[in-house]
Amino acid sequence: MGYQCRDCSYRGSKITSAGRCPACGSYAISRGADGASNEEPKPRTLQLTLLLALWATFAGLILFRLLS
Ligand SMILES: [Zn+2]
Repeated sequence: MGYQCRDCSYRGSKITSAGRCPACGSYAISRGADGASNEEPKPRTLQLTLLLALWATFAGLILFRLLS
């Protein structure tokens, strides 16, 4: 488990006790960035959007049935 500063790209296993970057003193620290890449893990927004679209279609069908 490591820490990565988003302001000065400090990378290490330690931060100050106040939760700041030891290199520049920034609070913009992200945790667990010890992967190979700097990319953020992709959120499951696509799945969520699909689910919402499905429910919207479902609700629309029900409304259509009810109104017709
Ligand atoms: Zn820093």
